[in-house]
Amino acid sequence: IKENDEPEKMPPPSTVRGRRKSVAPVELNKGNKRLSCVIKPPDMQTKKGKFLEGSRPNQKFFEMIQDFRATLEITPLSTTETIEPQRICVCVRKRPLNKQEINKKEIDVVSVPGKGALLVHEPKHKVDLTKYLDNQIFHFDYSFDETVTNELVYKFTAKPLVQSIFEGGMATCFAYGQTGSGKTHTMGGDFTGKQQNSAKGIYALAAHDVFAYLNHRRYANLDLSAYVSFFEIYNGKVYDLLHKKAKLRVLEDERQQVQVVGLEEVYVTSAEEVIKMIQIGSSCRTSGQTSANANSSRSHAILQIVLRRNDRATTLHGKFSLVDLAGNERGTDVSSNDRSTLVETAEINRSLLALKECIRSLGKNSDHIPFRMSTLTKVLRDSFIGEKSKTCMIAMVSPGMTSCEYTMNTLRYADRVKELNGNSKASE
Ligand code: ADP
Ligand code: MG
Repeated sequence: IKENDEPEKMPPPSTVRGRRKSVAPVELNKGNKRLSCVIKPPDMQTKKGKFLEGSRPNQKFFEMIQDFRATLEITPLSTTETIEPQRICVCVRKRPLNKQEINKKEIDVVSVPGKGALLVHEPKHKVDLTKYLDNQIFHFDYSFDETVTNELVYKFTAKPLVQSIFEGGMATCFAYGQTGSGKTHTMGGDFTGKQQNSAKGIYALAAHDVFAYLNHRRYANLDLSAYVSFFEIYNGKVYDLLHKKAKLRVLEDERQQVQVVGLEEVYVTSAEEVIKMIQIGSSCRTSGQTSANANSSRSHAILQIVLRRNDRATTLHGKFSLVDLAGNERGTDVSSNDRSTLVETAEINRSLLALKECIRSLGKNSDHIPFRMSTLTKVLRDSFIGEKSKTCMIAMVSPGMTSCEYTMNTLRYADRVKELNGNSKASE
């Protein structure tokens, strides 16, 4: 059958069960590829399968995934391992199923067996309607499962980059993924009810470490001060979230230096002050919208922590840009026959494509950075050039079967960003 191209035949689950043979872990080291788990027609099914039939909409797929998981060898993330800062780091984070999804008996189709691997068990049908799983493996620098906290994600992603801005570098950390996959949760902090716990997001955790370094003996003689700016890019236009969403112009001078004219840069002396700015900016981001999430999911939010020397010109020393990207879902939903939505979607797609290309250029140490392709990459231009630029992308995925297609898109994108990581000249 065509769909099921050259399947690596797995024994039917009935024979796997009990033996606990580690089939998949062997495959985990072979690079990103597909595995196939074919299940026999109903008459060959176990009693268990028949008994539970109909208790959830996709019971059979649920069981097939359970059976597959029983064969996986799980290696938990070691929290003691030393983390080497990389030029380009690409990670993926899976969020847990939420209450609504659990109520709807949504199936979790994502597994995180460890060592950076992540599996998507894509439910499929053959032409004769036999159900099978298309199990696809991806490898990233780190894969975080649904039990991992923001603090741990931070430790492996943005934390290693903080030092680089003290050494005069430009660092960026991106949260990428479908709307509802956990970008804002990861960057801005988790929600308890309507209240966002800003102190537990990567923004705040990074701010905390910036001040720890700033007050450290080692960097005292640099005589630096910290500033924050927080802005949003919506439809290619820049809005200042620390200045009542004032619309700002992006200009490029003859030396290709990009300026966001009039962007508010607030002098800060503690992580608490940064958190206050995050709260002001975040409430500004969502206010004035009919639906709270409608706009924020279609805009990129960029928090910058800037280090400047305390000289007369307040010379730029280093910069950390933390970016909560717009939702990457394509305009394939039915509601998108509205013209302005189509324009929005095209703009988002363009900026995400540009971002991918710019990170790839950084990885290749290329002289040509296609930063002019979008406003997002224009304002982040500094981050894609020079020996001292480092970047980290955290791709967020929803675990549900109904998100499968979006999840695959997200993983393919993240995979492309990472692709050249191995042969990058500059990987230090
Ligand atoms: P996005 O910004 O990508 O659209 P959100 O960060 O708003 O997504 O997350 C959507 C919902 O899922 C929120 O209610 C959020 O609290 C919840 N959520 C996201 N990630 C996690 C996680 N890792 N653990 C628990 N809840 C999460
Ligand atoms: Mg969001």
